[in-house]
Amino acid sequence: MKVNLLGFDAQQLGDWLVGRGEKPFRAHQLLRWIHRFGADDFASMSDVAKALRADLTTVAEIRGPRPLRDTLAADGTRKWLLAVDEAGGGEMSNAVETVFIPEAGRGTLCVSTQVGCALDCAFCSTARQGFNRNLTAAEIIGQLWLANRLLGAVQVAGSSEEGERRISNVVLMGMGEPLANYDNTVAALRLMLDDRAYGLSRRRVTVSTAGLVPAIDRLRDDCPVALAVSLHAPNDALRDALVPINRKYPLAELMAACRRYLAQAPRDFVTFEYVLLAGVNDGLEQARQLIALVGDLPCKFNLIPFNPFTRSGFARPSAARVRAFQQALIEAGFVTTVRKTRGDEIDAACGQLAGQVRDRSRRTLTRWSSDCTPMTTNSLEAAV
Ligand code: SAH
Repeated sequence: MKVNLLGFDAQQLGDWLVGRGEKPFRAHQLLRWIHRFGADDFASMSDVAKALRADLTTVAEIRGPRPLRDTLAADGTRKWLLAVDEAGGGEMSNAVETVFIPEAGRGTLCVSTQVGCALDCAFCSTARQGFNRNLTAAEIIGQLWLANRLLGAVQVAGSSEEGERRISNVVLMGMGEPLANYDNTVAALRLMLDDRAYGLSRRRVTVSTAGLVPAIDRLRDDCPVALAVSLHAPNDALRDALVPINRKYPLAELMAACRRYLAQAPRDFVTFEYVLLAGVNDGLEQARQLIALVGDLPCKFNLIPFNPFTRSGFARPSAARVRAFQQALIEAGFVTTVRKTRGDEIDAACGQLAGQVRDRSRRTLTRWSSDCTPMTTNSLEAAV
């Protein structure tokens, strides 16, 4: 089988080439061709020695995910469904979703890191799909590689002019938990930051996590980028119910990890994401608890009014309630934004990405019967 070079970062590509008797600087050339110019074959690599090109063609390939569906929303948000495993024997293929969100002065790509997700957050539609597997580094960076190609944003080889930078920001906020797929996520991050590849600033690449504390520490040491933490509840009882990983890494440990992260972070604040669920976590008492929880930790809040999906069991609070919650945080001195819903008519909004997951966790039907009772708004209120 051919080696897919798409997911190799500079170090890995250099090691691989040296192992084949090549000079390490070839890695820099290849990185530029693959990622900056968006090449998918070796023949076009005009400044690479002919013999090496021929050799590469026989042993290696540049293979990104294959688009199955391309959907454009009225607000310009674009969603791709990407096959990552081809279907066999009448099965559907595993597929993940990638979303491009254009805004004035910037373009953000929301990237997936796993086929499905195993964390089982109560209000997230990806969770309902179950979990199949981690994406490889090639499949993670392949989403950026492909989006650049499909948006016509690759640099033209031989021209010193940069391609139109349509993707200025990347957020790992698609399907999956990036820090549960640590090594592949970090390899992809390194390519995003590498000047020969995508050259994105650390401040414009965001890892979003539900709170895997040891991995937050590792990321700080290995590849610090902007950090977003999906908080969603101001106390352990409620967070245990909404974000089950909290039972393993409770809030006090999570807050301590955020402080440690900030010592090295490219930004001097953590972003806390907080999905507002009507009658569950959106009251003023919870806003007060939240303020007490974060204390003097430098942070911003990003409130996400719940995006509905079929049989979610949750509802979005009224605009007035969202505003009141936001106001309470602002009055306490926190920069607090309400995330604008983008692409919801194509189910591309936060928490709506579902892709196609051949569930291997066999959890979808029995998910509430194992260690917790069915999650209704009432039982959640009891946990507050
Ligand atoms: N596993 C990572 C990456 C996913 S990011 C994490 O949890 O951070 C997706 C973001 O959308 C998370 O903050 C998630 O909690 C939020 N989200 C999930 N379901 C949602 C929904 N139905 N409505 C609004 N936001 C949701």
